[in-house]
Amino acid sequence: MSRFTDKYIAAFMADLLARNPGETEFHQAVSEVLTSVAPCLEAYPHLLDSKIMERMVEPERVIIFRVPWMDDAGEIHINRGFRVQMNSAIGPYKGGIRFHPSVNLSVMKFLAFEQTFKNALTTLPMGGAKGGSDFNPRGKSDAEVMRFCQSFMTELQRHIGQDTDVPAGDIGVGGREIGYLFGQYKRLRDEFTGTLTGKGFAWGGSLLRPEATGFGVCYFAQQMLATRGESFEGKTVVVSGAGNVAQFAAAKAMRLGAKVVTLSDSDGFVFDPDGLDEEKFAYVQQLKNVARGRIKEYAAKYPTAKYYPGERPWGIKCDIALPCATQNELDAEGARKLVENGCICVTEGANMPTTPEAIAIIQGAKLLYSPGKASNAGGVATSGLEMTQNSIRQKWTSEEVDAQLHRIMTDIHEACIKYGTEEDGYVNYVKGANTAGFLKVAGAMMDQGLV
Ligand code: NDP
Repeated sequence: MSRFTDKYIAAFMADLLARNPGETEFHQAVSEVLTSVAPCLEAYPHLLDSKIMERMVEPERVIIFRVPWMDDAGEIHINRGFRVQMNSAIGPYKGGIRFHPSVNLSVMKFLAFEQTFKNALTTLPMGGAKGGSDFNPRGKSDAEVMRFCQSFMTELQRHIGQDTDVPAGDIGVGGREIGYLFGQYKRLRDEFTGTLTGKGFAWGGSLLRPEATGFGVCYFAQQMLATRGESFEGKTVVVSGAGNVAQFAAAKAMRLGAKVVTLSDSDGFVFDPDGLDEEKFAYVQQLKNVARGRIKEYAAKYPTAKYYPGERPWGIKCDIALPCATQNELDAEGARKLVENGCICVTEGANMPTTPEAIAIIQGAKLLYSPGKASNAGGVATSGLEMTQNSIRQKWTSEEVDAQLHRIMTDIHEACIKYGTEEDGYVNYVKGANTAGFLKVAGAMMDQGLV
């Protein structure tokens, strides 16, 4: 990197930290993108002079609101709701809603910032946003979750709409929550539109949307592996998480001929040396999505599996690792174990699951490594396809959606190769994804003037 870019990055980050104190996740996400795109800013001085990066890190709008609700025992609770509308240069704001106790402004801003570039990569016209609440759905009854969702939407509905901002699910927000949120939106606004995605199939949802993020992760990993003449066939795969993304990444890897040996949640992980099969996958879906149980129950059901409380799965020997739970779950120690054990590919399903130190170790060892904004973009891409189907009031078959998902993941992979291939031939997917996304958003912002 040139002396100019080093100095520019240092000054930019010092200002960002001063303006946004304590927002560590947001700092981390900006630092990664800035490091990738600083050479572009040097190469295109008009972007630098237009302060395009300074504009990109300032959300267009941040909404923070009170969410009061009553539990089944009649006790009143107050949560905090957020919607960060980061960037609308290439389309209406689009991004998930997360319900998790760790949600705060920093987490929302990092996710909205990442979403802006991810959405640009999908080739679809979608701006970047993220929302959520520090509400913890774990252990709550359906009625409590419904009352919370209704209270959350009572405020949020003022700020969203099919042509302005289209939320979707994320951690803690699946089909059940989208249903309650949509019901309240429809009641308050008296309109049946595609304002939320991830809807039920009977009322506007797209086929394959639940599977799309996890399937897309594997389609992207297939392309990465193919650059080295490899495939999923016969490989051992470690997956973290047991939610929406993890379930379908594991299922697709298994169907592509790999042995998936782990799943996890925030309490620990299960190691099944025999690997997942269709029967076990159906059990996991029932356990997590219907019974809303914990992953340790898998080890009780299948005695060949072992449960490791309080641990993450990175010490298990594997060829391919798919982190699909949450941010910063794969640290330097985990990365070292993966490298030592001969892992060849790390494809992110979660958003920013790998710490900067771990990325340095993984890339330093020249493993295939892709950031979530490239490899998990299949979810939002299929949400974009759901928006199109809603607008034209049609429904596409799974085959049609799957074909488009394949095409989009292939296009994203090609963009990463185009902008990320280094002099020695190593594909730096971080640089490729950040640069491709940045150039598209920056170009649109330049076209639209100083707004
Ligand atoms: P889910 O809520 O369905 O599942 C999340 C999983 O991650 C659960 O197993 C959960 O365990 C685990 N988890 C959550 N927080 C932590 C933590 N702090 N430490 C360890 N494990 C944790 O969410 P999704 O599968 O939808 O999302 C997973 C990741 O993928 C997130 O980073 C999300 O932003 C990203 N993503 C999701 C998309 C989607 O379409 N859903 C699209 C693109 C990205 P527990 O039950 O114990 O909380």
